[in-house]
Amino acid sequence: MKQFLDDNFLLSTKTSEMLYHEYAKDLPIIDYHNHLSPEAIANNTQFDTITQAWLNGDHYKWRAMRTNGVYEGFITGNKSDREKFDQWAATVPYTMRNPLYHWTHLELKRYFDIHDLLSAQTAGKIYEQTNKLLQTDDFRVRGLLKKMKVELVCTTDDPIDSLEHHQAIREENIGIQVLPAFRPDKAMQVDDVMSFNNYLNQLEAAANVSISSYQDYLSALKKRHDYFVSNNCSVSDHGLETIYAEDYTEAEVKLIFEKIRKGNQLTIEEINIFKSAMLVTFAEWDFEKGFVQQYHVGAMRNNNSRKMKELGPDTGWDSIGDYPQAKALSKFLNQLDNNNTLAKTIIYNLNPADNEVFATMIGNFNDGSMAGKIQWGSGWWFMDQKEGMISQLNTLSNMGLLSKFVGMLTDSRSFLSFPRHEYFRRILCDLFGKDIENGELPNDIPWIGKLVQDISYNNTKNYFSF
Ligand SMILES: [Zn+2]
Repeated sequence: MKQFLDDNFLLSTKTSEMLYHEYAKDLPIIDYHNHLSPEAIANNTQFDTITQAWLNGDHYKWRAMRTNGVYEGFITGNKSDREKFDQWAATVPYTMRNPLYHWTHLELKRYFDIHDLLSAQTAGKIYEQTNKLLQTDDFRVRGLLKKMKVELVCTTDDPIDSLEHHQAIREENIGIQVLPAFRPDKAMQVDDVMSFNNYLNQLEAAANVSISSYQDYLSALKKRHDYFVSNNCSVSDHGLETIYAEDYTEAEVKLIFEKIRKGNQLTIEEINIFKSAMLVTFAEWDFEKGFVQQYHVGAMRNNNSRKMKELGPDTGWDSIGDYPQAKALSKFLNQLDNNNTLAKTIIYNLNPADNEVFATMIGNFNDGSMAGKIQWGSGWWFMDQKEGMISQLNTLSNMGLLSKFVGMLTDSRSFLSFPRHEYFRRILCDLFGKDIENGELPNDIPWIGKLVQDISYNNTKNYFSF
């Protein structure tokens, strides 16, 4: 029997072990999409407790605790850090077979060198051990990143963000590149006209442009896009239910914008037209500046309206939606391709039923102009787990070129989640290792070792223009 989480965790053959330990393990990390706080990196934040570093903001853990019957006061409420940690610790043994069980123990091992299993019995000891280490300089947020060999992180930033923290980090030269990503979700959210108009007021201030017409609106946003570029941004990201690809005329969009400015609610058709126009506009700007554009599609958000009212968005009430994806995605990419304005693109699906759809879609627009121009992104959110990763890697192998994949990203809000790259690399090495031992791939270790290194690191480094 193998030991739990030993050196050869997730590696089922000798060749898998060798590929991981000799080719993948020591490579640095480029985390090209996450939700880390640039402010925390600028301040090199020190966490007072493991609760603050690990539980605050982590809605994956919150959902597990709620499912385990933990009262909200111990999750997002005003119970003490120690009480919250105890409730999480008592929940952990019940998370077996959820990725949280693996992540939790990998994180305790890799950051804190703690090999005990977390439970109600070990909670006190582990709370003390971790808190003690968190008080040392090596465990401030930059130290946590360096411990995992993180070379570069891309955060997620709204067009109105001042990027002051990115500027402060750059001036200090901290040994880790911290770059912004342009994420204009709010600049498309016209479903609620009142909050959109509030957003426009903030955009007016940020861009120093007064916005009364659609043209003003585009000028203000373009100014912000240029500002992001001048702050070393070369990546955009969009979180959407689906791609919007309605036909529209400029005149229609102008009229819709006037309606918004008057505070009138839009029809579904008008909302979809507005979003379609914005997506094309952003994509053209991204192309012009040589960006990599990313589209995360398929999340059905804020399903529990009672809890949403109580706690706000991103607190654990989201799930996988079953929106049709193929037609609009195809139309959108095709339109850009036809106009010769299709930037490097990564598409991520949340619904695993869309795996084959996405794996085959990327091939339509890989035109030989560069290797892997259009990418299908790694298993994301609910799919960021062993089976989700294996399924994504196998589907990509079967329908595209796994060898050209830009690989893993954390998409995380936590400074303690970087062992997820290790998790991915182990799974990748196991797939190749098993195929070699089954005689399904040649025993050409130098070549396959190179492919493993490409998918773990080199492809990412070459693909982005950081
Ligand atoms: Zn994200």
